[in-house]
Amino acid sequence: MTVPQITLNDGNSIPQLGYGTFKVPPADTQRAVSEALELGYRHIDTAAIYGNEEGVGQAIADSGISRDELFITTKLWNDRHDADEPRKALQESLAKLGLDQVDLYLVHWPTPANDNYLNAWQQLIKLREAGLTRSIGVSNFLVPHLEKIVTATGVTPVVDQIELHPAHQQQDVTAWAADHDVRIESWGPLGQGKYDLFGTEPVAAAAQAHGKTPAQVVIRWHLQHGFILFPKSVHRERLAQNLDVFDFELTDAEVAAIDTLDPGDGSGRVSAHPDEVN
Ligand code: NAD
Repeated sequence: MTVPQITLNDGNSIPQLGYGTFKVPPADTQRAVSEALELGYRHIDTAAIYGNEEGVGQAIADSGISRDELFITTKLWNDRHDADEPRKALQESLAKLGLDQVDLYLVHWPTPANDNYLNAWQQLIKLREAGLTRSIGVSNFLVPHLEKIVTATGVTPVVDQIELHPAHQQQDVTAWAADHDVRIESWGPLGQGKYDLFGTEPVAAAAQAHGKTPAQVVIRWHLQHGFILFPKSVHRERLAQNLDVFDFELTDAEVAAIDTLDPGDGSGRVSAHPDEVN
């Protein structure tokens, strides 16, 4: 099993498939991340707000895997966009992770009502220059937010990590990203289990045709669209299953059939709208 590497617009590369740790309980994180690393995951997505960076750090330290084989992402929380708070926040995250540098640091949400995400982005540019993170990006940014930071700074994020799954494909954001060499990271790639994605006809039919599970079909759909993703599970067999997706390929027709699952009016969103998180 080899996870493809994607080259980012700053020249760094990222494993296209990783392990996400949202809602992995702090007490269970070291065990779950250790199992993920044993199974072959090398890309871990966490965030300050998840409260589990220490567990991620312990698993990394225990693993014996050399640092340059790992790709670690964490995120700046919404109440730390002002002044030089981002530096303090990243230093706290690094201490919890037991690292000198993360591979990717993201502004977690734009919080537009607070009107301070541009400062957060300017601070992240400095944190990259200072070597505290190798790459910088954003999360939950819609096109106006992306336009604003790029126009003001001339620095384009390497990724935008957004809610993306078959019922919510955010084609305005993905089109903007494609035009600006920004890679999309799909969060909630399995719809967070909040709708019956696995029971939909195109997903179920492809699973049947390939002798794979519906989750594996949806993961392939993301990969074949070129999205980066990190499905979450705390169960070893599902962690293994979610990585076992490189021995089959969906046909163009199967991908196109899954594409039709987005109602096209935004109603497929399963979590918060970025303009409403402040
Ligand atoms: P997800 O779509 O990955 O869904 C996770 C759920 O899917 C699990 O709880 C489990 O119930 C189910 N599942 C996982 N593997 C399965 C399998 N093989 N078979 C059946 N069911 C399976 O949702 P997520 O965890 O919210 O998203 C993935 C990651 O994205 C997160 O862990 C986190 O790292 C990131 N994320 C980021 C943001 C953000 O605002 N930037 C928000 C949410 C999540």
